[in-house]
Amino acid sequence: MRVLGLLGGMSWESTTLYYQHLNRMVRDRLGGQHSARLLIWSDDFAPIAQAQAAGDWEALGDLLAKAARDLEGAGAEALMIGANTMHKLAPRIAAAVGVPLIHIADATAEALKAAGVARPLLLATRFTMEGDFYRGRLAELGIEASIPHANDRERLHAIIYDELIQGRFEAASRAAVVAMTERAAAAGADGVIFGCTEIGLLLTPGDVGLPVFDTTEIHARAGVDFALADGEA
Ligand code: GLU
Repeated sequence: MRVLGLLGGMSWESTTLYYQHLNRMVRDRLGGQHSARLLIWSDDFAPIAQAQAAGDWEALGDLLAKAARDLEGAGAEALMIGANTMHKLAPRIAAAVGVPLIHIADATAEALKAAGVARPLLLATRFTMEGDFYRGRLAELGIEASIPHANDRERLHAIIYDELIQGRFEAASRAAVVAMTERAAAAGADGVIFGCTEIGLLLTPGDVGLPVFDTTEIHARAGVDFALADGEA
């Protein structure tokens, strides 16, 4: 089994999900006492969120490129960025290391295609919804993701940073996000991407009347596929 390096802590609320998914998926596949071989980098998220809000992606690129090199130096055989938003920096991080970067949007596009979903709603931070790095990559892979209206985007962004990342899961916020998915369904969306790794802490697929694609779980599965592809336990 190959060693995965996870750039985590963005936020740790979802890194715990990655840790559970990766270990459970390896146990499901290999059975018995097997678990994932992992190296996890996890930093204080407050300065990271501040730098994101300030648009200081250069400094964030430096930080994550160094963390990626450190994980590679410690033995990681592939890297995963445990957040959709920070995939804005994926090219910089991939260029900093010699091991592959398992991209969350590529894994998500594959899952959408396998399910025959081509016009999903993307629920994510404003950086991910409004930038080109994520929807552009999905579009290259044949997926035309829509995003909520401007007010909804603002609300969702605030829910992610002011609640989910801080461990708060409010019924009113759940209802607000479900309403976003209902509006998207009425406008023709055929699926919903949980495109922020904390959204699965607020909503379950059962809350949504469309097929759900939870990027945390999909990304973890792609990591496990890589880890086990060498055929050795
Ligand atoms: N974990 C989130 C994501 O998947 C948001 C936090 C961050 O900005 O990294 O985008």
